[in-house]
Amino acid sequence: MRLDVAILGGGIAGLWLLERLRAQGHAAMLFEADALGAGQTLASQGIIHGGLKYAIDLKIGQDADALADMPSRWRACLAGKGDVDLAGVRVNAQHHLFWARRSLASRITGFFGSKLLRGRVDALPETAWPQALRDPEQVGAVYQLDEIVLDVPSLLAHFAARLAPWIKQGGVDFRIERNGDGIAALLLRDPMGQERRIEAARYVFAAGAGNEQALAMLEQPASRAQRRPLRMLLIEDVPSPLYAHCFDTSDKPRVTVTTHQAASGKLVWYVGGQIAETGAMQDDAALIASAKREFATLLPRLDLSACRFAGWHVDRAEGATPDGRKPDAPVIQAHGNALLAWPTKLALAPSLADQVLPMLPPPAIGNAADDGWPAPAIAQPIWERAAWR
Ligand code: FAD
Repeated sequence: MRLDVAILGGGIAGLWLLERLRAQGHAAMLFEADALGAGQTLASQGIIHGGLKYAIDLKIGQDADALADMPSRWRACLAGKGDVDLAGVRVNAQHHLFWARRSLASRITGFFGSKLLRGRVDALPETAWPQALRDPEQVGAVYQLDEIVLDVPSLLAHFAARLAPWIKQGGVDFRIERNGDGIAALLLRDPMGQERRIEAARYVFAAGAGNEQALAMLEQPASRAQRRPLRMLLIEDVPSPLYAHCFDTSDKPRVTVTTHQAASGKLVWYVGGQIAETGAMQDDAALIASAKREFATLLPRLDLSACRFAGWHVDRAEGATPDGRKPDAPVIQAHGNALLAWPTKLALAPSLADQVLPMLPPPAIGNAADDGWPAPAIAQPIWERAAWR
């Protein structure tokens, strides 16, 4: 198969890029080893951050800059008016919230009253607080952020339907033929076991943790990629939905809660933030025990006694920064005709594609043939796969 661009990896980075490439007339195909979204994308909370959560300690950092335009960019796409048509993708919440504990509310009110943030955050009157936060002894203030929360399974289903002819199952144990610094051909096994040879002008590795394999094959040091482990918490059968960060004195949220409806109809809270970072060093039982203590402290009126809990270990896979810290923006590394790409955040997938596109030659091949090579499935949401206790 001859292509302008071959993409490895069917998470948000690969799918967004494929959509942009197809719209520009490139003969592009995406190859997914497992199932669409199987890596970090389906494990994400779907929050389209606007950079605010990093600014709570009165620093507007670079990542805030990189993220600032993302909510409006995604909103335009969701309305069918952006560079990628996402009309029909479900939005779980139009605004992610932020709650301040009563003990810290006055400090935070001053910060959010500052000119810097006007228009990006609004204080909510107590009557508009979500049910779960109606605990005036503990909750001092609730703010509405300019951040939407997407239903990621619906985002994946949308891309899978639009791009079906150009998404193929393959990539487990892929091989490459080298050509100087770059790649002469990619050798992939299709689901029937047949080895396929792909020759492309450019190869884009958007394979998340799988990019480490590409680095090795390109004889690049493993230190060009990094992982940050998390153990996320799931709480099944919660009484009401909640989409909110709880901040304290750290610039990291104590908990970040999003809500998802399981196939059973039950509501599931999916919880990240500091609790998931600490959880990376715990097993599921220890995470669940500390999470119960945390919610008893933050929201003691909340009755979770009938709920089931689960942990979910997942690594954030990122391009490395020299000091090993979280990158602020997408990371792209070029090696000959191969590009290794990490968006750093789901929210930054549009920005990653903006940066990759000018690095590619114009379309030359015309349409790539669809020769009956099967497409991958879409991965199951993690709340359908969790080991509940
Ligand atoms: P991935 O989603 O990991 O996709 C890579 C794909 O490549 C996978 O489908 C994998 O199966 C495939 N693959 C691997 N090896 C191969 C191979 N050899 N051949 C072919 N395919 C291969 N960001 C936000 O903006 N908002 C959030 O709320 C948010 N929450 C998060 C919560 C968690 C717990 C985590 C872990 C991350 C979160 N993120 C969030 C970050 C975000 O999920 C990631 O930055 C983003 O999903 C990365 O997308 P990706 O396409 O690069 O990688």
